[in-house]
Amino acid sequence: EQLANQIAAGEVVERPSSVVKELVENAIDAGSTTIDIVIEEGGLSLVRVTDNGSGIDPEDIPLAFYRHATSKISSGRDLFRIASLGFRGEALPSIAAVAKVECISSTETTGLGRRLVIEGGAIVKDEDHNAPQGTDIAVRDLFYNTPARLKYMKTIQTEIGHIADYVNRLALAHPGIAITLKHNGGLLLRTLGSGDRLQTFAAIYGTTTAKAMLSVEGEHPDYDLRGIISKPEQTRANRNGITVVVNGRYIRSYVINQSIMQAYHTLLPINRYPLAVLELGMHPSLLDVNVHPSKMEVRFSKEPELRQFIEQVIVDALGKQRHIPGP
Ligand code: ADP
Ligand code: MG
Repeated sequence: EQLANQIAAGEVVERPSSVVKELVENAIDAGSTTIDIVIEEGGLSLVRVTDNGSGIDPEDIPLAFYRHATSKISSGRDLFRIASLGFRGEALPSIAAVAKVECISSTETTGLGRRLVIEGGAIVKDEDHNAPQGTDIAVRDLFYNTPARLKYMKTIQTEIGHIADYVNRLALAHPGIAITLKHNGGLLLRTLGSGDRLQTFAAIYGTTTAKAMLSVEGEHPDYDLRGIISKPEQTRANRNGITVVVNGRYIRSYVINQSIMQAYHTLLPINRYPLAVLELGMHPSLLDVNVHPSKMEVRFSKEPELRQFIEQVIVDALGKQRHIPGP
């Protein structure tokens, strides 16, 4: 069991940003409207996520740390119809296997919460604990018992860079959630949770950049696309400014990036990349989110149609704002 957890941990917990990702996804799943993330030393000494979501029932807290005990998947078919972000019940056990974890959670119904401390997969403290509704999970000394993994960690700056990048994109994907990110006491991000995507974008990229963005909107029998994209004049040299959200989930997609690039290339025959936040909606049966355990990669079942649709919508959006000089 413990070995299985450590093996699974290798897949789920690659670096501190993986811990942030799993904890924050759980907070989102729990319906939180506020999520506070506190990081120390690039996440190697502390990753703490506090939310105001549903909380975990006291009886279920220990279960949440056992492998697969909570998996939301009941059949293979479900893999193709994932609605919520988490579905494997592997994250918490994996994290607890390679760190010192303190979990405090309380639900509305019980009023009384529970505090559980787990080190290297073993429970070292378990007690009643009064807390407001929600969950507060602190992950300390990541990889303290797996020195081989620890050796691969980059500088604190690199690790916090990965974390900030992830949190920024998550904030863009969820403009309705108020998110803060602190590192070694300094505030890196604060979003208001107003639901306004452009406002969230401004919190990350600055007001001036936000003001220059164009809006994108398109419909198709299978898809809908909404978002913001920079003018061809405001492109950049790399693709890191592209954030794609599919059915509410922040994902990485080569196919979608390519479609966006292609649309820009049609109008601007040089290799420049836009700043963009695109939210794509489709029926869950048209995508497979279980390509990789980290759930960042997805596969689309009607790829050529999707590409064409995205390209067209973006070309339209860019075309509308461009003043083509007359003869
Ligand atoms: P998964 O998200 O795949 O179900 P996890 O290991 O990430 O598996 O979490 C296990 C379970 O613990 C979740 O299914 C959920 O019921 C509960 N849980 C974890 N984090 C939270 C949270 N922040 N708020 C409420 N419930 C949570
Ligand atoms: Mg999860």
